[in-house]
Amino acid sequence: MLVVMDAGHSPQQLKEVVKRIEKMGFKAHVIPGANSTAVGVTGNAQPLEPSLFENLPGVKQAIPVSKPYKLSSRDFKHGDTVIKLKNGLEIGTDRLIVMAGPCAVENEEQTIRIARAVKKAGAHILRGGAFKPRTSPYAFQGLGVEGLKILAAARRETGLPVVTEAIDEASLEAVYEYADIIQIGARNMQNFSLLKEAGKLDKPVLLKRGMSATLDELLMSAEYILAEGNKQLMLCERGIRTFSNHTRNTLDLNAVPVIQKLSHLPIIVDPSHATGLRDKVVPLSRAAAAVGAHGLIIEVHDRPHEALCDGPQSLPPDQLKALLAQLKAMGKVLGFKL
Ligand code: PEP
Ligand code: MN
Repeated sequence: MLVVMDAGHSPQQLKEVVKRIEKMGFKAHVIPGANSTAVGVTGNAQPLEPSLFENLPGVKQAIPVSKPYKLSSRDFKHGDTVIKLKNGLEIGTDRLIVMAGPCAVENEEQTIRIARAVKKAGAHILRGGAFKPRTSPYAFQGLGVEGLKILAAARRETGLPVVTEAIDEASLEAVYEYADIIQIGARNMQNFSLLKEAGKLDKPVLLKRGMSATLDELLMSAEYILAEGNKQLMLCERGIRTFSNHTRNTLDLNAVPVIQKLSHLPIIVDPSHATGLRDKVVPLSRAAAAVGAHGLIIEVHDRPHEALCDGPQSLPPDQLKALLAQLKAMGKVLGFKL
């Protein structure tokens, strides 16, 4: 239920609406808007009668929201969510944000070298995993906190904000301390206790779509984070599992316009994990920009044959640079900046 207030409502009337909602045992979310204020209701298992609220003074209308996700829905918030990082960079505007860097932080020299290269190529944010969720327990698991310290050093060196993954509640605490954006990976999209903890933090979160998750499930996972109070959330399409085996996953570009219609949250595309193949990353990055993604997250390595993780899908820095030049030209036609 969304309770829309009259344009001239008093603060007391708004308070009364919140009180009524809380008295019923539900949660009230005041949503200030440019033209009108609304109060979202969550926690009700059954649909509510609009008349429960429409008779209260100062209330214009009560609109039932049929979707199971509320705070992530456009019904609750019409305008786009824009996330502002500490260095002033905004995500969710007409600027296409490029996050780039190695799959994994391998050592300080490698990370700083690649960070410098992606900065020079024009990327806005450095990516790199310190905690790696690997399919095999024998594969490189990441450097952990040591990796986070290296990312912080790369940020000091380049000025690039850092996005890095938390894989459980223990690593979340450490990632919160060092990162500018906390990544929650595909394998953890439905780790609800992790989502709840991330929702209590005051740092932006990038939530990746699970490899077999529907978009409704992605939005329900987003809801876990938003419901705990963290509104600085962006989503990421990173490919889903299909019968097609020419690429590692199948990039579901439908997700971009579908999410943008259903939700106000920014949507980022990861063409690297979506395809697993270097030569597909450039064309699918262009495609993602063309369908209106707010950003890209791309794996880059200057010595991909030496990479400890995901070398075959990593772009060398010169290809990133060439891609960004193409995207810039595309943006002139399609109306986005880089
Ligand atoms: C990653 O971005 O490092 C990663 C592991 O991606 P995903 O969770 O999409 O597999
Ligand atoms: Mn990877």
